[in-house]
Amino acid sequence: MNDIAPHPASRENVLLASYAMHSEDTAGRKHPEPEHAYRGPFQRDRDRILHCSAFRRLAGKMQVFTGDMGDYHRTRLTHTFEVASIARTIGRVLRLNEDLIEALALMHDIGHPPYGHCGEDVLHDCMRQAGGFSHNQFALTIVEDLEQRFNRFSGLNLSAEVLAGQTERANKHQPANVTAPLLEVQVVDAADSMAYDAHDIDDAVQLGLLTIEELSKVRLVDRALQSIEVKFPNLSPKQLRPALVHELVDLQVSHFLEHNVPRIYAAEGKTSAEVREEGLRLDEDQQFTQERRELEKFLFDNIYRHARLLEIRHSAGQRLEQLHGTLVKQPERLPLRFRQRAGSVGPIRAVGEYIAGMTDRFCDMQHEYLFSGVGPLADW
Ligand code: MG
Repeated sequence: MNDIAPHPASRENVLLASYAMHSEDTAGRKHPEPEHAYRGPFQRDRDRILHCSAFRRLAGKMQVFTGDMGDYHRTRLTHTFEVASIARTIGRVLRLNEDLIEALALMHDIGHPPYGHCGEDVLHDCMRQAGGFSHNQFALTIVEDLEQRFNRFSGLNLSAEVLAGQTERANKHQPANVTAPLLEVQVVDAADSMAYDAHDIDDAVQLGLLTIEELSKVRLVDRALQSIEVKFPNLSPKQLRPALVHELVDLQVSHFLEHNVPRIYAAEGKTSAEVREEGLRLDEDQQFTQERRELEKFLFDNIYRHARLLEIRHSAGQRLEQLHGTLVKQPERLPLRFRQRAGSVGPIRAVGEYIAGMTDRFCDMQHEYLFSGVGPLADW
């Protein structure tokens, strides 16, 4: 370290709790690199993710609603920033490592294919013979193999903790270990659902797919509306919608902190490794869990299964299936990089990876070109 600035570890020692993941305790990178003069390892990870091409493509990937449905709603990119913002707020109160939290949050959806969960379902079916498709797993493929940044090796060479955090996400549905994920990883996971519960409501109401009155039957929303009425009585419908989003985020974050702060602060004195081994997990009380489940079920039935979305889902699904099926049969039409990749991971996976990296619009363009043009499709 030269003397431009104090070592990042000295800042962390002042600001972070003992149980946070301190960057001086990192297990490092697969390919060792010298320390940066003033950025800690997780700051560098965050910057590598922010500057990688897969991250920029999140702007062209739908979250729930497609680009041609309007200009108001979230994309996968703006969802990602909302998750990062909520996660940092929680992380700061819990005195966790915000750089690590931000790196994990910016990376968490980087592996999403075009056309959201529909895209994922279709690709999973197309790739069944080759092990299926998971966006969480694909995020790891992107940062470890597909991004090209260094000439000695492929991938972004991220810190072990960032890769392990994403691996925890990919294995989320497997039986839980006694060892808990890093608290920073758990915070990002919690912030993800807090963000989409709130913003999907905002987007759906703005698009006219459901009304605030219909939503008020859900207990958590009703509670938020009552609290708004006390603080800001008589809001116009246009003002009520953003107020509701704010209140829902605030309610969830405040509840989460009230429930977890005493337990987490009580772990002061222990290291990050110790609290992981003890299985320290962030959670919420059962009543709140039930209310969130009720909200999520309502959103599932009324938004994600809305007729307009099912229509889009159907036609996008067909295009993805045609793209995958045709390219597996005609691998010569793949861009060179993916023709080469087919040699190492097989054509079914290589074609799936090529499609998964696309934005919604690029996917439509390549689909059109596949059936109207000649020669290989474009790389992204
Ligand atoms: Mg997400």
